[in-house]
Amino acid sequence: MALIVQKYGGTSVANIDKLHNVASRVVAAKEKGNEVVVVLSAMAGETDRLIQLALSASDNPMDREYDALISTGEQVTVTLLTMILNKMGYKAKSFLGHQVKILTDKAHTKARIISIDTEKTLDELRKGHIVVVAGFQGADHEGNITTLGRGGSDTSAVAIAAALKADYCEIFTDVNGVYTTDPNIYDKAKKLRKISYEEMLELASAGAKVLQQRSVELAKIYEVPVYVRSSFTNDGGTLVTKEDKDMEKEVVSGVTYDRDQAKITVVHVPDKPGIAARLFTPLSDQNIVVDMIIQNASVDAFTDLTFTVPRKDIRQCQTILHKVAEEIGAERLEFDENISKVSIVGVGMKSHAGVASRMFAALANEGINILMISTSEIKISCVIESKYTELAVRVLHDAFGLEQKI
Ligand code: ASP
Ligand code: MG
Repeated sequence: MALIVQKYGGTSVANIDKLHNVASRVVAAKEKGNEVVVVLSAMAGETDRLIQLALSASDNPMDREYDALISTGEQVTVTLLTMILNKMGYKAKSFLGHQVKILTDKAHTKARIISIDTEKTLDELRKGHIVVVAGFQGADHEGNITTLGRGGSDTSAVAIAAALKADYCEIFTDVNGVYTTDPNIYDKAKKLRKISYEEMLELASAGAKVLQQRSVELAKIYEVPVYVRSSFTNDGGTLVTKEDKDMEKEVVSGVTYDRDQAKITVVHVPDKPGIAARLFTPLSDQNIVVDMIIQNASVDAFTDLTFTVPRKDIRQCQTILHKVAEEIGAERLEFDENISKVSIVGVGMKSHAGVASRMFAALANEGINILMISTSEIKISCVIESKYTELAVRVLHDAFGLEQKI
């Protein structure tokens, strides 16, 4: 017998038929003698619909009301699933985030979980209940409802698994697992049987949308084994787990891309202490995540600074930076939204030489110009013109022989 947390995403709970499918999977796990906690997303498209509703009521809704509204999609799915489970003869109970004491900070729309008091959940499990919890939400110290950022049900599930010391967490989605690259872009993409937390984190930060990044961070810290599986097949899925010897042999495990970035260049700024802080502090104050940063070697004490930000934040960056650019004496600002980032990820990079040069050569062979480069211990990312995204993904997949992966 094991304690398992199963999370089902929006496409898996999109209507009553699909909820019946989820119910039969939950029941199957329960019938094997497991204790089961289920975490659900809202029906596919529902959170978007609620966001649009909020924005049609007010162009600047209060955070508190906004979170209370956009979290309601999950209330619908957890109650419906529970009704179905009850009808099937199973003892099940639904809970909202605050009812199972998911305490978060006050950062509405991107709240972080501070703690989860498991007493209630464990008590229900001991009574033989299936516990069905609304994902994506919690409440702050004052009881205000908060949400955990888009895709946040993954984080709810992993956090609950960690708090309960569950044996593992299953994330059910509409794909069979984690692939070497996006199968929609390249039909040679292969499903990975296993991947390390580190690689999964880098893939998530580089644009792969299988798991919310924060959920992987939590899984890594608390060493929660996570299976990414499809709710529509019986495929074993991909296990996200601690790095092991086999993984080190693989130079590159995946190629990913991110089309949601934009590039900003601050041209001809004085190269003196404090300039970078002046530029980036107002951005971070607005919670704008700056990704890659490059500062050119300076000429005559002037330099150019180029960096990337999420494309959705570009207007806000324009407003903020025009003011700062003037204050710090920059010549001008350049904004480029026609870019994307392609990345290769693999723990084996740590011990293999020549990975970067292979990547650059593969791109050069196709005449793809590299606009920016950044690296971590297990990831190399290049910014390129967005029209080359698919081509770049395919040539990199070929260059590192990923179609041979098992
Ligand atoms: N329903 C939320 C969203 O669409 C949370 C989730 O699906 O994980 O972002
Ligand atoms: Mg999701």
